[in-house]
Amino acid sequence: MDAEMVDLLVVGAGPAGLASAVEARAAGLSVALLDEQAAAGGQIYRNVDAASAKICAVLGEDYAAGSALTRAFSRSGAQHIAGAAVWNVGRDLQVNYLLQGVNRALQARHILLASGAMERPFPIPGWTLPGVMGAGAAQILIKSASALPDEPVVLAGCGPLLLLLASQYVAAGVQIKAIVQTTTSADHLRATRHLPAALRGWPDLGKGLRMLRLLRKQGIPMFAGSSDLAIEGKEHAESIRFTHKGKPHRIASSLVLLHQGVVPNTQFSWALRAPHRWDEAQLCWVPETDAYGQIEDSSIYLAGDCRGIVGAKASASQGRLAAIAVARKLRPASGAALQERERAVRSELQQQLRIRPFLDALYRPAASHRMPKEDSVIVCRCEEVTAGQIRKYAELGCQGPNQTKAFGRCGMGPCQGRLCGLTVTELLAQSRGVSPAEVGYYRIRPPIKPVTLGELAG
Ligand SMILES: Cc1cc2nc3c(=O)[nH]c(=O)nc-3n(C[C@H](O)[C@H](O)[C@H](O)COP(=O)(O)OP(=O)(O)OC[C@H]3O[C@@H](n4cnc5c(N)ncnc54)[C@H](O)[C@@H]3O)c2cc1C
Repeated sequence: MDAEMVDLLVVGAGPAGLASAVEARAAGLSVALLDEQAAAGGQIYRNVDAASAKICAVLGEDYAAGSALTRAFSRSGAQHIAGAAVWNVGRDLQVNYLLQGVNRALQARHILLASGAMERPFPIPGWTLPGVMGAGAAQILIKSASALPDEPVVLAGCGPLLLLLASQYVAAGVQIKAIVQTTTSADHLRATRHLPAALRGWPDLGKGLRMLRLLRKQGIPMFAGSSDLAIEGKEHAESIRFTHKGKPHRIASSLVLLHQGVVPNTQFSWALRAPHRWDEAQLCWVPETDAYGQIEDSSIYLAGDCRGIVGAKASASQGRLAAIAVARKLRPASGAALQERERAVRSELQQQLRIRPFLDALYRPAASHRMPKEDSVIVCRCEEVTAGQIRKYAELGCQGPNQTKAFGRCGMGPCQGRLCGLTVTELLAQSRGVSPAEVGYYRIRPPIKPVTLGELAG
């Protein structure tokens, strides 16, 4: 293994990672950035440098604007190691990764983890059928392969990304059969409390309202406040079933795109044994850090959506703050300039976070779409463990997600519990009548990405 030493090693080339690398380079630090994707951009700006004008027009100006950040990153002089799947980050500040099937290592003085978010699982009957995908995954296909559905689609669930994808499909001429929205009037009421703060972040609020207006103008059937979603079909999705205004509905469709928000990708922070807390507003685990994102007793920082969902702009600001914190340690002579820079970034961050409580309240996913009532619904897709089996484990005395591994291999597949972890925590908490915080999470250990023995030996 080769071992080199850099001042700051960044994992993740999304807004948080890119902005931190640019900031750290501007402060004179040596930086290496690793990402498993072939190009910089992360989720929101995936493939932006190679996207055609046509695809940029479909994805919208917020997407195209990402090239300012990717360009600043390429000019920054940071080393970009693309296609690097990081499988271990140690408290000894060594990072192990696979590059073209070869195992490598890098040593750093400080590490920033900016591994982003993933779509929240949507465990309802039929969600594992072919023809059912996450809306985020469908959007990845546009960004990475310009791929658009050639058949009419139904979009279902809640959250800004669902509406964004719908408006991108409209721009691309994709036929949308219906949007089945799970946001209820109770959600609207709960969100109203946070409206005054959200109004101070009005540009983002305005964008959301414009998107909704555009979709309504298209005459797309919208079923607001729907519940009890289920996908029907034998070998493939054939229809979506739901309740709207107390009446049962069924819409035939062989392509259903589900989405109910994104949640932090916390595999690294759990593997590092960082403390985590259950966030009741975002209904997920978030790692505990100081105001710069630093994990206690370590030189490891977290920034962006992996530290709690904040959105692209706030992710970039958090990345900058972490870089400033590292620069203050390694370049104390620049202290005054860095302090001034920190003030400016903090004030931007404050502005960018104003809309978050409103969005969290408005797009809170329904309990029945997080903890399936039906015993037959698969929760752990890798090991095909159902909701009924997990409830049974609880009855037999299973206390937390970690024990479900012994009961039935739950969470032991290739994704290492990434996809089922939240559902398992919430189902066990519900069955035991305790809080998710009491139930806890899987004990995550490296390798957090699948590595073969041959690769390890190499
Ligand atoms: C599928 C999806 C699509 C989204 N689309 C949009 C959108 O169009 N508009 C919008 O406003 N928001 C979108 N979001 C939300 C958006 O991702 C975030 O708000 C923002 O991009 C977060 O930035 P980040 O830098 O924290 O992480 P991200 O942009 O998610 O970047 C994280 C990076 O870390 C890399 N990474 C993770 N784990 C590893 C590993 N083990 N080894 C190597 N690399 C790793 C990933 O490849 C990724 O490039 C999307 C989210 C998802 C999940």
